Amino acid sequence: MRQSNMLIPTLRELPKEAELPSHQLLLKAGYIRKLASGVYNFLPLGKKVLRKVENIVREEMDRAGAQEIQMPILQPAELWQTSGRWNTMGDELMRLKDRHERPFALGATHEEVVTSLIRDEVNSYKKLPLTVYQIQNKYRDEKRPRFGLLRGREFLMKDAYSFHEDFESLDETYNRLFEAYKRIFERCGLNFRAVIADSGAMGGKDTHEFMVLSDVGEDTIAYSDTSDYAANVEMAPVMSEYEKPNVEPKELKKIETPNAKTMQEVADYLGHSLKEGMKAIMFKVDDRFVMVVTRGDHEVNDVKVKNLCDAEIVELATEHETKSVMGAGFGSLGPINSPEEVEVVADHAVKYLVNASCGANEDGYHYTNVNPDRDFKVSQYADLRSIEEGDPSPDGQGTIKFAKGIEVGHVFKLGTLYADKLGGSFLNQQGKAESFVMGCYGIGVSRTLSAVVEQYHDENGLLWPDSLTPFDVHVINLNAKKSEQIEVADQVYESLKSQNFDVLYDDRQERAGVKFNDSDLIGIPYRVTIGKRANEGYVEFKHRKTGDQQDVHIDELVRFLNQLTK
Ligand code: ATP
Ligand code: MG
Repeated sequence: MRQSNMLIPTLRELPKEAELPSHQLLLKAGYIRKLASGVYNFLPLGKKVLRKVENIVREEMDRAGAQEIQMPILQPAELWQTSGRWNTMGDELMRLKDRHERPFALGATHEEVVTSLIRDEVNSYKKLPLTVYQIQNKYRDEKRPRFGLLRGREFLMKDAYSFHEDFESLDETYNRLFEAYKRIFERCGLNFRAVIADSGAMGGKDTHEFMVLSDVGEDTIAYSDTSDYAANVEMAPVMSEYEKPNVEPKELKKIETPNAKTMQEVADYLGHSLKEGMKAIMFKVDDRFVMVVTRGDHEVNDVKVKNLCDAEIVELATEHETKSVMGAGFGSLGPINSPEEVEVVADHAVKYLVNASCGANEDGYHYTNVNPDRDFKVSQYADLRSIEEGDPSPDGQGTIKFAKGIEVGHVFKLGTLYADKLGGSFLNQQGKAESFVMGCYGIGVSRTLSAVVEQYHDENGLLWPDSLTPFDVHVINLNAKKSEQIEVADQVYESLKSQNFDVLYDDRQERAGVKFNDSDLIGIPYRVTIGKRANEGYVEFKHRKTGDQQDVHIDELVRFLNQLTK
């Protein structure tokens, strides 16, 4: 493609609204343009790369036996009302009405549509298992659309859904798609981890998220320094063992702690470390209150609280609620003499505290020399804190470290949840009606593109891996005024094209500096410059990533490039 004809509006300045390298560079190099918050145009270069990601996803999904379909973006509200998500999706679901005032939603995801489709078309175990997928824009009115394509309100997703007669069959497909996901992200050149994730309120069983390791990621991953164990921080079980210090329990004392509210202020005031204090947090669990006690240096983990209480909704109690139940605000809460109706649960580490401190349920007062089980009772000790760096890895191998990650994919065992809600059933081998067992599998295609840029760029611009580059080779004619040079450059361009290289040809009447800057910015891995030695039959080759350069004779060029790219 001749660059003079192509829509590649590179920018000289870094766009102000963009904070992250991927967002800045995709704008600056002319790949995308914003239309509205979280809504983007893909310009020719952006569209080419997006299609390459899409094709990798498509090839691997097809190879894994999934069938491509296309479902409507415009979805009747009724379906969402039947599943209950018309309410629970809240403001994230984009809603609209037709001319008859009938409510619709724009597809944020397609569990409802696909379940109703398969419910109506498949009624026998003989057609199972079945996996369908589509690659299509999704709409979510995100609270904070940001970072360009990483969190958009309109974004490209691959979503797949599998239907099974039993969980065993689901496991098989899940594992096959898990492997397909690994190949997809490997082919995109990404450094990633598959992490064990929270199945949340969806009633699912296993779930994994595919996380691209990146400092700009919004999620924290706990991983083992020696094995391939990785989990979302809120999911990793804590396997630490604690020991009771060998000291005599002393007499319980109540002490005035004026102005000491935070754990650190209390510890400083009482002259001990955070570890020797206890933290008490009030949760509203469905319609009752639960006090969770952890050691002062630990963080309570609300996913674990939720699982322990087997609750639908777990949220922090407000200070007002806390005061009315306990008689004291956040800074002075503790498990001693707490009211009957408040269940007290504690993390395992609490059991091993001796002569610790905790709030006295009276503003401005704390107890010291507190000894669990002697001074207060808990209904259960359980694993209720978040894992920390340095804790042993839950798989028994190595130590936990933290990293930041960008979630690019998600595989999820849904079970019969949607089939039950939407009446999706089939006749099993005994001729009995049963609900479909389902799995769902998402990949953020446009987010993946951005995640690749986060891992592949330098201070001058993008550095595409060969699998995703918008063009294979960037041919630059340095002097587009000299007719002999134009002739050589045209000849190089035509011969590479005829050998099936996809070539961007900078034939513009621009200064050399401008052309090189743009070329670095655009980030095609291989550059061929027609310059000073054109009359001798030599062109200059440059590798964008390593900066390696060498002169190559025109007659050798195809062979030379083939060696690099094929
Ligand atoms: P997040 O926690 O980032 O909001 P999610 O759990 O809502 O993600 P899923 O519903 O599992 O995401 O969607 C499948 C995939 O779609 C995600 O793994 C992610 O790659 C992508 N995705 C989700 N929301 C967005 C968004 N707003 N913009 C771009 N990609 C997104
Ligand atoms: Mg989300």
